[in-house]
Amino acid sequence: MQITPSSEIAFSPGIQCLIPLFYAAWADRVLTPTEVSTLRAKADDLFFLTDDDKQLALEWSSPSRPPDAFLFRHWEQTLRKGMDAWNGSRRPTLTDLGLLMAEQAADQWDGDYPVDNWQDPKIVQKLQGLEIQLKSLNLDTYRSLFDAPSTEITGIAPESKVLQKFLDGPYGGIRQTVQTLLSDPVFHRRHYDTKEAYRGQVLDWIKALARQKMGALAYPHECGGKNDMGQYAAVFETLGYFDLSLAVKFGVQFGLFGGAIHALGTERHHKAFLGKAGSLELPGCFAMTETDHGSNVRGLETTASYDAEAGEFIIHTPTEEAGKEYIGNALHGRMAVVFAQLTAAGTNHGVHAFLVPMRDENHDLLPGVRVEDCGYKLGLNGVDNGRIWFDHVRVPRFNLLNRFGDVGESGDYSSPIQHPDKRFFTMLGTLVGGRVCVPRAGLSAAKTAVTIAVRYGLRRRQFSPGPTTPETLLLDYPSHQRRLMPLLAKAFALDIGLKKLTDRYLHRSEADMREIETLAAGLKSCATWFATRAIQECREACGGKGYLWENRFADLKADTEIFTTFEGDNTVLMQLVAKGVLSAFQKEFMEEGARAILRYVGQRINTSFTEQNPFVTRQTDKEHLLSSEFQLNAFRFRERRLLYSLSQRLRNLVKSGFSAYAAGLECQNHMLALAEAFVERWVLEALDEKISSAQDAALTDLLDPVRSLYALQTIEGHKGWYLEQEYIQPVKSKAIRKTVDELCLELRQKAVVLTDAFGIPDHLIAAPIAV
Ligand SMILES: Cc1cc2nc3c(=O)[nH]c(=O)nc-3n(C[C@H](O)[C@H](O)[C@H](O)COP(=O)(O)OP(=O)(O)OC[C@H]3O[C@@H](n4cnc5c(N)ncnc54)[C@H](O)[C@@H]3O)c2cc1C
Repeated sequence: MQITPSSEIAFSPGIQCLIPLFYAAWADRVLTPTEVSTLRAKADDLFFLTDDDKQLALEWSSPSRPPDAFLFRHWEQTLRKGMDAWNGSRRPTLTDLGLLMAEQAADQWDGDYPVDNWQDPKIVQKLQGLEIQLKSLNLDTYRSLFDAPSTEITGIAPESKVLQKFLDGPYGGIRQTVQTLLSDPVFHRRHYDTKEAYRGQVLDWIKALARQKMGALAYPHECGGKNDMGQYAAVFETLGYFDLSLAVKFGVQFGLFGGAIHALGTERHHKAFLGKAGSLELPGCFAMTETDHGSNVRGLETTASYDAEAGEFIIHTPTEEAGKEYIGNALHGRMAVVFAQLTAAGTNHGVHAFLVPMRDENHDLLPGVRVEDCGYKLGLNGVDNGRIWFDHVRVPRFNLLNRFGDVGESGDYSSPIQHPDKRFFTMLGTLVGGRVCVPRAGLSAAKTAVTIAVRYGLRRRQFSPGPTTPETLLLDYPSHQRRLMPLLAKAFALDIGLKKLTDRYLHRSEADMREIETLAAGLKSCATWFATRAIQECREACGGKGYLWENRFADLKADTEIFTTFEGDNTVLMQLVAKGVLSAFQKEFMEEGARAILRYVGQRINTSFTEQNPFVTRQTDKEHLLSSEFQLNAFRFRERRLLYSLSQRLRNLVKSGFSAYAAGLECQNHMLALAEAFVERWVLEALDEKISSAQDAALTDLLDPVRSLYALQTIEGHKGWYLEQEYIQPVKSKAIRKTVDELCLELRQKAVVLTDAFGIPDHLIAAPIAV
């Protein structure tokens, strides 16, 4: 490299001839694993380069060091100059351009270069070989060098692109990067005969993603990350379109294992382990669940007893059933974050997390650690889940993740949070990031299923009205529209809700945490339940074809259904949601006293005048039913009514002598109904807010019926309750049903535009029936 008098960088002729190839490879801002191996193997083989040039070529082919904006622009400008100088009758190849640019550079190069003739057939042949290999990888990128990008290549309508951009927000770039990576041949999905083969494949995939620095995105800069949880969540969501074993193992390694070190450890743990977790140099597990204790984390039995003389914790599994169960990465992991009851100086301080080495550098188990494979599962067989037992395993005091509780050399315990309950919930609360991400991957699977079912419904025909008329398209049957369009609308609503939740999480303050935990528990539950239901319906909508492995539903169904259980069982989480809503309500009353009571009474009176008067409860005109005002009012009414009645019931029960626990059991189903109403209302508000932020009328036209269909199908689903409450009269209930049918027909006309706006590329949908 030389600096010219005009202070411009001038690369040697040898490097100059490679610039078109590097530009092509990096044009989509990502070097896929195959591009890396091609460039690296070939660069060494380019006999005409000097050693320095070979070194530079190797640097430019490192996936974790993309060219900065300055270098990339320099490549582009050099390339454009080369194109301007081309006077051949055909369009130049990258080799043509490279050779031309090398010749130009040779004229200006200040010094010797070991090539006299750049048209030497041996040089041409080497460059052409490299070009052919790179070009075959990503034709779109290659074309875009010469032509303006064309929407015809993918056949996606402009409205879909606009909507996709609107939904992606600032994360379109990272999603695109991951999609490009996943288009590389190394990410080819196939059916694996054994769990071992599948797990080996998933491990290789994770390594490829770690090399691209995808795993460490949420970690601090000094640990190799970008401090960007938003990007991490977008990567995780995108992996959900491809292979859920990959998404889950990725989440276990970087989100649970690394995430626990990040959230529960302090600087010393970050320095020692976080970088290694992010690069996968240190594969690890998150070992919380035990055979006897899953949802009840406080009941865990594994012990961590402090031995002050040795300055060590002794990690021990007291009974066979206290063994850690279902632990992801148990077979590939070398270290585990183990949750155990901390005892120091004879006092139990509750559950804390410890870093416990499991295997040595040769991958042999360390003394005192026993691991068993959980074996084949209903799905996710690419993830190595196992059971782990510890027999008096000693770890240094340093290995306690001590952000919320520490033990001094002599065994004295200290914590910034005095109350043990508060400490426990704060500790678990810091892990809420997983609960924010998991439903996004689950929803990706549902969006894939809906896209496949819609596309199939638009090509498959069955039955015709007469012998001379063509058979009817499946999606033209009102029943088919009724089955799929509400799912499509709800997928949009949840997508927008989950992205808003991610945003709230990213910009959280200490005071927001309680509400964010409540929202994360609720949205995780509702989105993953939805995914399970939607995928089943979409499979059925594709008939027997949906049952073939190649059409994706087998894996989508099998791999997502456990999303309703891990990261917290949904039914248990929904009770947390109800408790969160109740305590926010009680807090308001405690803080505001009589003012709050007056406000609620006023609200109730107002509702009975404006929403529950005989005119409104019978109102059936379209304008009213499709108005966001009616829809939001109805959702808010349901939540409020369930909340008041629940809090009153609980108060009366406690007054009559029930313990708080017994009163909670008595009202358990009421609590679940409140939690659902809370999430549904929050999602509708998020959707409404997003639509209001749209500047483009075309976007509003697309999303308004989506909102109405989400809202009215939900009201229709609870119509028994609304009728009981006399919030609607039978005539209005019927009108809502009819309007849902009409909205289904309206969305059927927009189904392709809407499903394309999910932005799932064909290579990820990868179902022959969805071509
Ligand atoms: C594939 C997979 C991967 C996993 N990976 C990990 C991992 O990496 N690390 C880890 O620590 N754990 C992991 N787990 C464990 C997972 O987190 C637990 O399965 C989950 O927390 C539920 O616990 P459980 O299975 O013991 O169910 P239980 O808690 O026994 O629940 C069983 C049923 O009882 C119901 N129930 C329980 N309590 C109540 C209540 N109070 N009120 C009403 N109903 C109730 C639940 O709704 C559920 O239907 C994984 C599990 C699976 C299946």
